[in-house]
Amino acid sequence: MESFPQPTLTALLGQAVGDAFGAPFEFSPQAQRHAQTSLHQKRYLDAVHDVGSRIRFSRIPGLYTDDTQQALVLLRAWMDLENPNDAAAVALRFQSIITKMFDHWVKGSQTGVHRGTGRNFRDAIMFGGPTNSAGVGAAMRIGPISTCFDSIDELLPWVVTVSRVTTTHPLALTGAGMFAAFCQGTAQGKSMDTILAQLHAWNPPADLDRAWSLNLEALSILETRPEADLLIFAQATGAANKTLGCAASGFALTTVPWTIHHAQQGSFSDVMAAVSKSGGDTDTVCAMAGCLAALRLGRGAIPQWMQHGLKGRESIDNPMQWDPIHSEKILTEAEYQDQQQRQKNGSSSESTPIAPQSLPTIWEEVISEKPAPNSALKTEDEQKQQPRQTAASEPETSTPNVPAKGQLGLFD
Ligand SMILES: [Mg+2]
Repeated sequence: MESFPQPTLTALLGQAVGDAFGAPFEFSPQAQRHAQTSLHQKRYLDAVHDVGSRIRFSRIPGLYTDDTQQALVLLRAWMDLENPNDAAAVALRFQSIITKMFDHWVKGSQTGVHRGTGRNFRDAIMFGGPTNSAGVGAAMRIGPISTCFDSIDELLPWVVTVSRVTTTHPLALTGAGMFAAFCQGTAQGKSMDTILAQLHAWNPPADLDRAWSLNLEALSILETRPEADLLIFAQATGAANKTLGCAASGFALTTVPWTIHHAQQGSFSDVMAAVSKSGGDTDTVCAMAGCLAALRLGRGAIPQWMQHGLKGRESIDNPMQWDPIHSEKILTEAEYQDQQQRQKNGSSSESTPIAPQSLPTIWEEVISEKPAPNSALKTEDEQKQQPRQTAASEPETSTPNVPAKGQLGLFD
């Protein structure tokens, strides 16, 4: 293939700017206020200076995080394969790439070139198999690639299989499917009612049937009732391992419907403000809502300041040229250098330049190697292997780029 379709590029840009927008105030109790400040001042906030985060959680303003990195990995896996409709093959390639990214050493990082990953994603890499996470990780990366499908009947089984690389939880798998269907349907100009009718008509595999119904019901709650009612409904399922404090907590059953609901109305900025008001996992809900809102409104509706201030823009505009190691290493190294600089003298991140991205030098080695075993399809005996070591860590470092979302437990 020569390039991705325009809706895919629009979805990716919406996702990346939303991700960068919400990242600085992730899990801040003042998330709503910070979102409004960012929109009013037309700039990406600084997690340390504007939000008050500790330096070890600082980020370069305007830089996307793991949500968009993983969306790019799915696009890369898709374009590399002769038959990308073969979900098992894409799953293998996705797993191989994220493992290579994890293993690639970056000074200061314990997760290689990955940035801001959740605990269950890291566990899925380190243990070589999926966890039983009901989190939103599978949904957060699925938006852009879902626009490459023509029909929902092809899309949904594909999403479930590819998502099984990192999670086995029915709520996470069906939540990813529901979000993917909205992105695909919106890219084709379908209304929310039309997409909902298609979703209700879909017959999921038996093991996903209840979770599918729960996700659809959760979405319908938000049509007429407040966030609190969604939390009561979700809590009553017993699937959350702790008390739900907000819809955007990262629990798939609340976070996916919250995101879809708020992406349906208003301007791109309106969507960013609305989806942030719950607080919680704001980089993820803004990334997902940004993806869906961009598909609904068009690329031109994304504010210019968001487009111009986005770091790593070359890869977002041209994912065919994106390299999972080389492109991301430049960005991740810059983020850790920025943290070190701040720890030394508290300087502003604006002083840290990011080297221009260039064509891949390492990627060719990556794709020529045999993919890692598909842990999602391993036998039980095979899964009882020793966990991987955090080879990407430097012995003397103690500044992991692991945000507070690592404390979320089951739906981390
Ligand atoms: Mg993130």
